[in-house]
Amino acid sequence: MLFADFNMPTRIFFGEDALERGADLIAKAGRRALIVTGKTSAKKSGAEAEVTALLERLGIHFTIYDGVIENPPLLDCHAAGRMAREQNTDFVIGIGGGSPLDAAKAIAAFAANDILPEDIFNDDKRTERALPIFAVPTTAGTGSEANNYSILTLPGGLQKKTLKSPDTWPVASFVVPKFGATMPNSVTLSTALDAFAHAMESYLSPRSTLFSRKAAAFAAREIFDVISALPDAYDAAMRERLSLAATVAGWAISVTGTGFPHPLGYSLTLMDGIPHGRACAAFAADFITYNERCETGRALLAEFAAAIGTKPRVLAAFLPGVANVELALSESEIARHVELIAEAKNYPNSPYVLSKEEIFEIYRSHFLKK
Ligand code: NAP
Ligand code: FE
Repeated sequence: MLFADFNMPTRIFFGEDALERGADLIAKAGRRALIVTGKTSAKKSGAEAEVTALLERLGIHFTIYDGVIENPPLLDCHAAGRMAREQNTDFVIGIGGGSPLDAAKAIAAFAANDILPEDIFNDDKRTERALPIFAVPTTAGTGSEANNYSILTLPGGLQKKTLKSPDTWPVASFVVPKFGATMPNSVTLSTALDAFAHAMESYLSPRSTLFSRKAAAFAAREIFDVISALPDAYDAAMRERLSLAATVAGWAISVTGTGFPHPLGYSLTLMDGIPHGRACAAFAADFITYNERCETGRALLAEFAAAIGTKPRVLAAFLPGVANVELALSESEIARHVELIAEAKNYPNSPYVLSKEEIFEIYRSHFLKK
């Protein structure tokens, strides 16, 4: 039977004049906006200036919250949501990488609901719909602009949890590839690796559909074409391809969710400071090798690699190679990393289902101190 359900509630405006073309949707969202950003990227990229100029032209009052840090903490979003409620905010605009975009979704939900931080994950406690959300990405990676996920760091700073709700889709996203031009090469590469991970993990997911696999294969091909040439610098045409690919892969994971490289990477990000995309790519070869142990996994990987114009073993060598994650951990440090991610829901989401012992095996094979 063919699964081809299709849901994309977010309007995506792509290209130089994206904000202009979607301006009427912003105009309809209300009179008071909260802009949610990190410390520097929204300014450096030029995105904040374009958004504020548009809001001024539309006569919309706005305040700026620029307190989002990487891997946004749940408690910060809770506090910012309260502030938004006190200011009678009508809608939220996230500008930045995945961290500000994910934070904007959570802040929009907290602004509409006077609840405890952890109740954000509980649809029964969250009685009001989130405020309308708009997204302006400045990285080409997470695809948060094209899905309803908000990945939040729990108190203590060692674990992530995903908010996912019918009302956390952006109303519209404005994908302007030139906003990524100020990214250092290392951020461009890491975020591209994240988008590639979304594409590959989504393609193999048992929840994938015909459309999601087509989308994932398209995204993976674009990203692999650009990054496998290992460019010294990324030009405008490359950024355009990466931006579209990341957005498309972001939609693909809205259908399927992600596979095991994502949770395995979370511990490296939160405990060792490895950026999210590189942390996922560190486990790409494991994702390929373990999935090749079963027939469905082997077939899907062969199909996926062929769609990109390569072979699974080339991907298995290339991706962890460019991710270049080098750590030397003791047995007890490995145990701590594994405990924090062992309960994630991603493991059944690929043809081969990892056991906890295999998670240990993978961590030891990469990181055990000699
Ligand atoms: P990020 O954490 O948003 O940003 C990483 C760094 O890049 C920050 O220092 C940021 O600066 C900087 N930066 C961003 N855009 C820039 C630009 N145009 N020029 C210069 N610097 C720039 O990175 P990300 O990889 O995009 O997002 C990672 C987060 O997204 C993680 O929390 C991850 O869990 C989440 N995620 C979400 C999804 C989803 O589907 N929703 C999927 C995968 C990952 P500032 O601090 O100044 O902003
Ligand atoms: Fe990701």
